[in-house]
Amino acid sequence: MSQQQDEQSDKQKYEFRRVIEELQEYSGSGTQLVSIYVPEDRQISDVAAHITQEHSEASNIKSKQTRTAVQDALTSLKDRLKYYKTPPENGMVLFSGAIDAGGGQTDMVTKVLESPPDPVESFRYHCDSAFLTEPLEHMLADKGLFGLIVLDRREANVGWLKGKRVEPVKSASSLVPGKQRKGGQSAQRFARLRLEAIDNFYQEVAEMADDLFVPERHELDGILVGGPSPTKDEFLDGDYLHHELQDLVLGKFDVSYTDESGLYDLVDAAEDVLAETEVMKDKQQMEEFFKELHDGEKATYGFEQTRQNLVMGSVDRLLLSEDLRSDVVTYECENGHEEREVVDRRKNTPEHDCTECGATVSAEEAEREDVIDHLIDIAEQRGTEAKFISTDFEKGEQLLTAFGGVAGILRYSTGV
Ligand code: ZN
Repeated sequence: MSQQQDEQSDKQKYEFRRVIEELQEYSGSGTQLVSIYVPEDRQISDVAAHITQEHSEASNIKSKQTRTAVQDALTSLKDRLKYYKTPPENGMVLFSGAIDAGGGQTDMVTKVLESPPDPVESFRYHCDSAFLTEPLEHMLADKGLFGLIVLDRREANVGWLKGKRVEPVKSASSLVPGKQRKGGQSAQRFARLRLEAIDNFYQEVAEMADDLFVPERHELDGILVGGPSPTKDEFLDGDYLHHELQDLVLGKFDVSYTDESGLYDLVDAAEDVLAETEVMKDKQQMEEFFKELHDGEKATYGFEQTRQNLVMGSVDRLLLSEDLRSDVVTYECENGHEEREVVDRRKNTPEHDCTECGATVSAEEAEREDVIDHLIDIAEQRGTEAKFISTDFEKGEQLLTAFGGVAGILRYSTGV
């Protein structure tokens, strides 16, 4: 994946996350919030027909309030579908419903999310008192690409772990004879043949893994190997794998099954290692930032300072806290002075007195935008890479609490 695509998808993921958080806050008074997941290859006319069907079935709902709410939601979604000839790449997810607005009031909310980070795999129609956001959350949790190998002496499977998704790819089975020798065979000869067969099988498994993983070795975040003992140990200790893959092995794990289900067991068994790897890259970024902060000159932090450097084109990597939820308000006074203030997303826009001339700018005259959107737009224009940093480790937490969720590593020292 190119850097450009990577950034775009980070930005897109951030926008998705924001919408999901908003949707999660909503609840309906009855089962009246509709969520529809549409795969890329689904005909829009099929989806529309399904909605029409649900609309007519909704006439059986006893509560008049719920019935009207569901039918309104369905009508609103059908209207939205008119804008599409075919679903966009990776499909789309539609949400609509009358949400509780407090004081017995309801508000109609309709959201359409196009092209999620992973393909929508199956059509889902869901009507409940909450929106169905879990499938989207799973996609957003997607990070990393791992190679999976499970084997014993009779069977092996290789596949991918892409984010949270396991993809079985290839399997092999061996002709290794069982431990019981047939009559008339010498014990020694039998043992030798058996060892040879095992060796051949390990080679075959390694070839299968090499074919799949070597071309992707620079994208791979690691390889997990599973199986019973001592098979996986023999396999790894015997250096059967391509040496570059061998270096990528994150660990070996006890797994009882070596069919496709073994790949899933392997991912479960490696849970801790995977969680660690996920934050590893974020940790490295923050280590580098702190090193520059203490001993170097190429660290910048805080919204205003980082923004200035960003505008100058001097930021190499922009570090943004995944949990940053703030807006930036831009005020331009009557004398043309432009100033900005960062505000909590839940707070109203304050009015502002220009620090240059004292002129007051009202909230209505100000422009308000999400901080991350604001910074990423500048970063994209300047060819700066943006990295989202998790708060699941100490220095990641510090980025949010001590640096306002915004920092950067500079290309060169600027003295700003
Ligand atoms: Zn002014």
